[in-house]
Formats: sequence, C-alpha cells, structure tokens
Amino acid sequence: MSRQMGDSHRRFLQTMMSNGVISSSQASALHRHCCETHGAHYSQEKVEDFISVINAQLQPLFMHIRKGMSEEDGLDYFALVNMAKTDITKMSSDYADNELELFRKTMDLIVDSENGTASSTDILNCADSLQTKKLKKKETEHVLNKFVQDKWLNEIEGEYTLSTRCIIEMEQHMRTIYPDLIKRCFVCHNIAIQGQICENAVCGIKIHLPCVARYFKGRTDPHCPSCNDFWTHEIPEVQQYSSQTLQSQSSCAKENTAGPSTSSTLATRRSRRS
Ligand SMILES: [Zn+2]
Ligand SMILES: [Zn+2]
Repeated sequence: MSRQMGDSHRRFLQTMMSNGVISSSQASALHRHCCETHGAHYSQEKVEDFISVINAQLQPLFMHIRKGMSEEDGLDYFALVNMAKTDITKMSSDYADNELELFRKTMDLIVDSENGTASSTDILNCADSLQTKKLKKKETEHVLNKFVQDKWLNEIEGEYTLSTRCIIEMEQHMRTIYPDLIKRCFVCHNIAIQGQICENAVCGIKIHLPCVARYFKGRTDPHCPSCNDFWTHEIPEVQQYSSQTLQSQSSCAKENTAGPSTSSTLATRRSRRS
C-alpha cells in the first residue's frame, strides 16, 4: 500500500480539522467517501492504516489523529490532537486568559467530583474569583457555551462534563496535574472521569458508565470485579446505539459527539445521587 498522502487523505484531514473529533463509525464512512470521491483504492477494514498515512505527514507539524473512548456512549472516537502543547495552553489561540482560567477551574471541579460533573452554579461561583479578570454571570454563560460549541465540554441540564475531545487531548495533562485524582477504568483501562466507584474504601476502583452497563449486563447480583464486594450503584442499561452513523458524509459536520444516550445515562446518575 502506498504511504503517500493523496487527495483522499487530504480531504479526510480537512474534515478532521473542521470537526476536531468524529466517531469511529463516522471515520469509516468518511474514509469510504474520501476514497470514492477521489477514485482511490478503498478497503473497508483499513481505516486505521489510512489514518496512519495522514499521521506520518502530521508528525513534523506536531499534530496527530488519536483514538479514544467516549465516556458517554462507550464508543471509539478520533480527535485531531495538538502534540506541541500538552496542557490547556493548546486552547490559547481561541480564548482569552480569564476564559482559560475558567476552563482550568471547571476542569478542577469536574476531576475533583465523584461522578465527573460540575454544575453551572459551581462554575459561576468560580468565575467570581478569577485572578486574571473576573467574568460576569452573562459572560461566563457565554464562555461556557463556547466551550460546548468548540467540543471541550458537554452540557446537559446545567451539568458540565469533559468531552471526548477534551479527554483525548488533555489526558496527559490531567495525569500530570491531578496524579492522585485520575483513575483508570477497571474494565477498559482507559482514563476514567465519569464513572462509578466501588464503595469499599480499601478498593475504590472506578468503572465508566458504559463499561458498568456492559460488564454487569444480565447480572442480578453484581459484585465488584476487584474486591468482590456488592456493587451498590444502580446499573445503567446498555444503550443500543443505532447506526445513526453517517449515511451521507454531508451530515458529518453537524453531528455532535454526544450521542442520544447521553441524557438517559445522566438521568440514571442523577436519580442515584438524589
Ligand atoms: Zn471503561
Ligand atoms: Zn471493589
């Protein structure tokens, strides 16, 4: 197979650049679309090889298309990652200093929380004590909207979570600045921000919600896979992710990273907390 980058690769990269992040099924459909449009050889199972050709070209630019898992739907996604900067200064071209400080504080709140969320109320309180320049309530809401639009945060009913893009981009950074707070999912071994934690204090393993759903599916008497204590949390349903993947590539840019499952997953979590 040719390792040269062709028009099909360039088209794929352009879509990645405008989207920032796409699901793996979107990537497969995009791969096919790009090859067909430019008359390039297409092999369904070779999407990762196709991406590795692009990654080889991106290396001198300190860019990389990296795969990671969504904590919302448990599916794989690809994000275009800036490797030159590992911390949140990679966002600095798009945001003012006080906006970045707000993002940092939001990330602190989310990582420090048990379930990987921060409420808009808590974030608004932070905005009042920014050292760079305070943000008013309206300004804060506007900036939070921008974080969601730019796919750094997800928001449902005033609860904010780190997006798939954010986790893929910032994993290394978060491991560095929160070494004691960041855990790996016991089931899939990926970084886990949103999840359930074993209530046995000497165990305390964490499992992503989609991994909990899959792992405990059909078990009436769930036990921790590490310490074997009873798993006290409510087990979310395994979501059936219909192939709402791209039939036509034109819809790619419009699709959000948060699948239709998100609200029900959060609903489960809320009911448990209240
Ligand atoms: Zn997991
Ligand atoms: Zn346990």
